[in-house]
Order: sequence, then C-alpha cells, then structure tokens
Amino acid sequence: MQLKITVLEGDGIGPEVTRQAVGVLRAVAGIYGHRFEFAERLIGGAAIRQHDSPLPTVTLDACLASDAVLLGAVGAPEFDALPAHQRPEAGLLLLRQALGDYANLRPAVAYDVISAASPLRPEIAQGADILIVRELLGGLYFGEPRGVTSDNGHSVAVNTMRYSVPQVERVARVAFAAASKRRRKVTSVDKANVLETSQLWRQTVSRVARDYPEVTLDHLYVDACAMHLITNPRRFDVILTENLFGDILSDEAAVITGSLGMLASASIGGDVGLFEPVHGSAPDIAGRGTANPFGAIASAALLLRYSGGLEQEAETVEEAIRSVLNAGYRTPDINAGSGGFLASTAEIGKLVAEAVAEVADTRHAYHAV
Ligand code: NAD
Repeated sequence: MQLKITVLEGDGIGPEVTRQAVGVLRAVAGIYGHRFEFAERLIGGAAIRQHDSPLPTVTLDACLASDAVLLGAVGAPEFDALPAHQRPEAGLLLLRQALGDYANLRPAVAYDVISAASPLRPEIAQGADILIVRELLGGLYFGEPRGVTSDNGHSVAVNTMRYSVPQVERVARVAFAAASKRRRKVTSVDKANVLETSQLWRQTVSRVARDYPEVTLDHLYVDACAMHLITNPRRFDVILTENLFGDILSDEAAVITGSLGMLASASIGGDVGLFEPVHGSAPDIAGRGTANPFGAIASAALLLRYSGGLEQEAETVEEAIRSVLNAGYRTPDINAGSGGFLASTAEIGKLVAEAVAEVADTRHAYHAV
C-alpha cells in the first residue's frame, strides 16, 4: 500500500506529538511493507510567521493532493489579539471546509490502568469504548439565514438548523459501517420531541438502518444521552448525531478517558481525510517534552483505518498504545494515582513504535498457528 500523507505539525506541542505519530507510522510501514510518503507543510501560527497566512496555498494544495492529512494543533498566544479570520485557528477551519469531510469520528475509550485520571468512578468508566460520529458540515453551524438584525430597536440574532435527507443519509452510513466492524450497535441522538430537523433525522436514520440488518439501532434524546454518557457509558457502541449535539457530547465523552491528551479524531467523507488529536497547542507545556502523544498516535491509527483501509495495522497501533500504558509508562497528565512512571513525549513515541513491532509479531505468530 502506498499513501501520500501531508503532515501539518502546527504550533505549540503540535510538532512534539505529531513527530511521535509519524514515527509510529514509519514503524508500521517498515513492518507491514507499505510505502508512506510524508510531506511537511506549515499551518497556523507557524504559517503566519513565514507566509503571512494561517493556511498558505502551498499547504492547501499539498493537502488536496494527498491521501490523508495528519495534523498536530494550531494556536499561539502571540496571535491572540488578531481578528478571528487572521488567527492560526482560522487556518484549521478553512482546511476542514476545503477537504469537505462531513463525518467527524471521535473514539472515547476508558483505559483501565489510567482510570484514576478520569473524574468518573472506575466502576462506571471501566470498559467504556464509544465511537462518536458527528455530522460536521450541516446544522446550526452552517444553516442560512444567520446573523444579527434589529427589531423595534432591539438586536435580534438568528441561526438556522437545517438538514436535508442526503446530508443525514451519508453520515448515517458512516456510523452503520463503523458499527458493523465494532459491537454492532448505533444510538442515534436527536431532539425529535421538539425539532423538525430531528424528526427528519430520525426517519432518515431508521430508513438507512434497514440496509444494515446486522446492526441494532436505538434512538435517544440528546438530554437523556448527556446523562447516560456519564452514568452508564458502557451502554454505547457508536453514537450518531448532528453537528451541535455532537460538538457538546463528544467533549462530555472525553471525561471517560481522563485526559485531553489521550483523544484522537478523524474527519472523513471528502476526498482527503483529516486526522488530528482533539487537544490544542497547549502553550503552557510546549517545548518541555512532557506533552502526551497518545492522542496523536491514536489519530495515526485512525488514518490507517479510514484513509488506508488498513484495519489490521490500525488495530496493531491501538494494541501497542494499550501495551505501553499497561507497562506503566505515563506522561504527567495521566500519571496521578496510577502508580506508573514518568516518560517524555519522545520516549512514549519510541515505546509505542517498538510495541508495534512486538504486537505485529505476536499477531503474525497467532495467525500462523
Ligand atoms: P489546549 O487543548 O491546548 O490545552 C488545555 C489544557 O490541556 C492545558 O492545560 C494543556 O496543557 C492540557 N493539554 C492539552 N493537550 C495536552 C497533551 N497532549 N498532553 C498534556 N496536556 C495537554 O486548549 P487551550 O489551552 O484552550 O488552547 C490553547 C491554544 O490551542 C489556543 O490558541 C486554542 O485556540 C488552540 N486550540 C487548537 C485546537 C486545534 O488545533 N484543534 C483545539 C483547541 C484549542
């Protein structure tokens, strides 16, 4: 398999964690005999400094010409005073739009050995393994009309929640396809007792479900879902929901894992997938070598799965992450109360790359028996 991957390290801890993810991808390529080509480009504050733009044309062109984009994080305090469209974060928003990825996937996994890092009691979080599939290009964030007008001397603000059947269908198919490779359950989340968009959402998802008879579908209102996520997260396999609800629920689900640094994401559906950890550029810890790279590495696993179709390789990376955690290695953000020992960002990256080789060997031996 050949993959052209554009690497956008970005700002702050972005370069530190992305280098570990690239190292793990190189290990995967070596072990499984794939050819991954990496092209580095600038985005965010780093791009503003050199090109005066948070998303230079050279960067966007490279992304559009690649099979996948691996991104670190953007954002630097020196640009905080700039207007929104000139800030580093604008580069990321423009990139997401240009790639046309309509489905955002965010796994939320409870790793037992670091359960003390989660605010949830271990007996609640343990064993939780959820994939949130959020619609990314529709709903309130894009609907027209929008804006602020005036009515009888008072300001009035309007946003429009709008969904069409094709928009719901395409993201529903992503969720059902993902569930059929997991524990075969989709929970569709809406507010169909109040909103017409949600009624259309529910009807459409129910119709799509008939094409996936092996997958069980249930529906939950968003308020009930918010409660179940922290009282009984194990009830979920795949959660499918619209843009605004997904934005909120995926952050809530993050508490299951315990640290922002553990969380990965994939945006897919367009021609080129975008894979990035959920966290930002963390200027408060940048340059110290203490950033948690597990989320960036787990994003590389998603790249293998969704842009490469390399399921076995993706599982190998995910198993390697578990094995490094089980062996007790921790960055400071996940070390509290876990009895592990501290390792730097680069050490964790190296350990996961080595574990990839061991896991691949074990799997190979297992299949050969
Ligand atoms: P942040 O995610 O950067 O950091 C929040 C807190 O979590 C900080 O205390 C940080 O040290 C910690 N943290 C984050 N990632 C970590 C990791 N991998 N390992 C250990 N600890 C980690 O959010 P913020 O502080 O609100 O924002 C900082 C900058 O990042 C801002 O400029 C913001 O706009 C930007 N941002 C970018 C993205 C993105 O690129 N996708 C997302 C969120 C924020």
